[in-house]
Amino acid sequence: MRVILAAPRGFCAGVNMAIEALDRAIELFGTPLYVYHEIVHNKWVVDGFQRRGVVFVSSLAEVPSGVTLLYSAHGVPPEIRREAAERGLQTIDATCPLVTKVHKEAIRFAGEGYAVLLIGHAGHDEVVGTMGEVPEAIHLIQTVEDVDLVDIPDPARVVYLTQTTLSVDDAERIIERIRRRFPQVAGPSRDDICYATQNRQEAVRILAAEADIVLVVGSRNSSNSRRLAELADSCGVVAHLIDGAADIRLEWFVGNETVVITAGASAPETLVEDCVELLQKQFHASVETRVIREEQLRFVLPKPLR
Ligand code: SF4
Repeated sequence: MRVILAAPRGFCAGVNMAIEALDRAIELFGTPLYVYHEIVHNKWVVDGFQRRGVVFVSSLAEVPSGVTLLYSAHGVPPEIRREAAERGLQTIDATCPLVTKVHKEAIRFAGEGYAVLLIGHAGHDEVVGTMGEVPEAIHLIQTVEDVDLVDIPDPARVVYLTQTTLSVDDAERIIERIRRRFPQVAGPSRDDICYATQNRQEAVRILAAEADIVLVVGSRNSSNSRRLAELADSCGVVAHLIDGAADIRLEWFVGNETVVITAGASAPETLVEDCVELLQKQFHASVETRVIREEQLRFVLPKPLR
């Protein structure tokens, strides 16, 4: 068996920052420490923090007065910030700056009288946060068909934005339809799909040509991990989205000699190492890393933690 490790894979700058922020907050303020939504969409990471006394909540009603509350990497809608301020909670914002950028674009365009078409997935934390900024001006677009159905008062003042973790190909299809229906549509100066999402997808697209099977390490609620598995699948390769080595079934590899392993932006490298170890033990797999792009980006910690 030959294992090809896709690079880049795993943690992105936003996830690194959010996890480091939570680590530092535990050091400074102790536990229980409250986090609005999962700090990042990964079961292993969330379980680990829960064992250390972090409480993940989905509503501020679950947060007692006088405690520290951290916002996750995916961001929050403004009403959560308002409510937290009214309650006098001490808050730390670990929202990824690339998510904040989309919030700001939505606010700016809506302020200039644009209808905002947000391409994204309903219910995703990031989409809920962005839509909450300008609920009166924003329309969620999940499919090409949604573009045809959306009701826009002035077709000359429309802008599209995207969730950061979309499939590049799906987003392109939707944007193409938007451009056809609204030829004067405006867009962000640069794509909102973040560098980490794009790079991980590019690596899978290139390496899938050599793969018999692709393993994507990541949790089911991780949007960018799911997109990686879908992408491998669309390249005609069997793909499995796994939380870790315990999910691997040895029968997957019967007749499949070349295994590409990647990981979503919220999946820690230790989980990838466990998978490699298992394949080496079971199949004497050789392992090579294939670097498709280098990544250097880092984000600073939120102000109260610097
Ligand atoms: S996937 Fe992209 S937008 Fe999301 S946390 Fe990572 S860098 Fe930020």
